[in-house]
Amino acid sequence: MAEQLTPEQAKELQEIAKLAPEEQKKRLPGFLKKLSPGQIEALKQMQTQPTQQCIFCKIVSKEVPAKTVYEDNDIMAFLDIKPANPGHVLVIPKEHYQFLSQMPDNEVAGLFKAVKKITSAVFEATGAEGVSVRQRNGAVAGQVVPHVHVHVIPRFKDDGVSEDWAPRELPEEQFNEIQKRISGKIKELAPTIEEAPKEEKGKKKKLPKVPPRLP
Ligand SMILES: [Zn+2]
Repeated sequence: MAEQLTPEQAKELQEIAKLAPEEQKKRLPGFLKKLSPGQIEALKQMQTQPTQQCIFCKIVSKEVPAKTVYEDNDIMAFLDIKPANPGHVLVIPKEHYQFLSQMPDNEVAGLFKAVKKITSAVFEATGAEGVSVRQRNGAVAGQVVPHVHVHVIPRFKDDGVSEDWAPRELPEEQFNEIQKRISGKIKELAPTIEEAPKEEKGKKKKLPKVPPRLP
């Protein structure tokens, strides 16, 4: 079974990839020694889609043109060439990661801050009635380009954009079992999840003024 690289390992690999071929030859054996057989398997899978061939990396390097709507040092956002609706935007990190789970936390935070801003802009600019935000990991989840991207899709009443799934009936035991497994995993991962800042006691939380059209 393929096992994903940790964010640190993914970062190290990217640094190695930037080196001259001679330097890469020196660094790679040491790096590979630190990986589990599952991670080496994952690496082999990644190599079938090398960064050089990644269409989104080519958009970042401007080898391939795109209708860009936003760009900063880390993030790019451009129109999807096969939009679900006019105004369908893809938001990507400039660094190549295949899956969201491979990104360092601070880069995920930066990506989703951009998604928030772009969601509001798409909503306002298209006169939409709602916005869908979707992020897919793995071919089985519908990920076509193996470079992390977030779909921001303006939505209109009866626009026919599918919401993918048909709800299932699950027996109570199955709900309980999967609840236990996921909450257990989250506890294992807890040290890497930042705690939400605690609210000051006795201080009444002021609600932000709601704009007339809240996406
Ligand atoms: Zn890429």
